[in-house]
Amino acid sequence: MLRRTMAASYGLALGLALISLPDPARALDASDIAGGARRAPVGTREITATLASDELEGRNNLTEGSRKARAYLIGQLREIGPGVSGGTDDDAYEHPFALGTNLVAVIRGRELPDEYVMIGAHYDHLGVASNGDVYNGATDNAAGVAVAVSVARAIRSLPEAPRRSVAIALWDAEEDGLLGSIAYVGDPAIPIERTVAYVNLDIQGANLSPGLAGTSIAVGAETGGDALSDVVADAVRAELSASPRGVETLPISFIFGQLRSDYATFVAAGVPTVFFSDSTGSCYHTVRDETRFVDFDKLASQSRIAYRTTIALAEGADTPDFVAPNPALATYGDAITLDTIFTRARPDLKRFATPQRLALERVFDAVHAIVERGADAFRPDDVGTLLDAALQTLDVLDDGLACSSSFARRGGPVFVPGERTHDAGRPVESPHLPSRGTR
Ligand SMILES: [Zn+2]
Repeated sequence: MLRRTMAASYGLALGLALISLPDPARALDASDIAGGARRAPVGTREITATLASDELEGRNNLTEGSRKARAYLIGQLREIGPGVSGGTDDDAYEHPFALGTNLVAVIRGRELPDEYVMIGAHYDHLGVASNGDVYNGATDNAAGVAVAVSVARAIRSLPEAPRRSVAIALWDAEEDGLLGSIAYVGDPAIPIERTVAYVNLDIQGANLSPGLAGTSIAVGAETGGDALSDVVADAVRAELSASPRGVETLPISFIFGQLRSDYATFVAAGVPTVFFSDSTGSCYHTVRDETRFVDFDKLASQSRIAYRTTIALAEGADTPDFVAPNPALATYGDAITLDTIFTRARPDLKRFATPQRLALERVFDAVHAIVERGADAFRPDDVGTLLDAALQTLDVLDDGLACSSSFARRGGPVFVPGERTHDAGRPVESPHLPSRGTR
């Protein structure tokens, strides 16, 4: 469905460009794209810290804290591009629904403006506990919003706009059951059939255990077939070759996200989708999910990977076709990913009490045995073992480890070009954004 209209609109766009523009905008080259990758982390620290500050009261939907978060985020979006309507008033960005307000901004594509690559993250969180402690939600999902905004800003700062339009969407009421993205898909500001891919960010800059500081996951890229899986793998490879402390982001099937973030909404709507996440560790949904526990070194790498994924989809010759999630749920590749994660986490088992350590060792061993038997021996009952391994591991981590600042990668301060030392009281510094008329 997409490819036919894409071919037609590409021809039309090319024709118009040749007729009406003596000097059509050039394609982005590798050096433009690498420059954007270097800028992608700029602002992530300050946006995370601002959203996760007590002043924003945990950003619960339909609260004053949520309204403050929105006012701040609209200020960020306005520097990147207009709302879907082309307007720049507050209400041009706001898409209210019964239980909250989503925010959407657009960077208009230079050749195929009616095709949209969407990058999104939920900005809501859990509000204030009954004892007055604030659920700051630094990794869930201030950091994911920070990545989405900073990636969009890096794309906006490129010397030319990408071929396709890029939409940045910040969802409300995710914590209430994905209500914001569900409301959006039910009444989309951008037609779903023109949304060629969706990049979801939820729980970023977090480490399940200290041994996993250099590891993250990309869930469900197979919903865009090999085309989307390859885009993500290329983005990770480029990051690892350019950055010595890059995060190895491993692919895992759709089901392992447990339908627990807005990615599930877009897959249900038939949009090729990848979901970048660090999963739910011991700080998850506690009042200790605070800025000081965010691994900003990891977050910088994740923002470059999300940027490379988004720009490759926006600039590429083709777009991925939707592939429904595997009815068999899991693959041998998932066994390899889980085994890699467990191998890296093994040195951290000493942090657990003996019964929990033994339980985890059994799970790790069972997954390792599946890998050892080889791809040809992968059987349907291995799927159950893998799904169970993921669930059991998250359960044990949840009550077996204390949420601790040792989860943030140790080491010196991370240098991010253009970024100042964190001070939540000061506004976020923007890199210079080239003016492009009404864009
Ligand atoms: Zn959450």
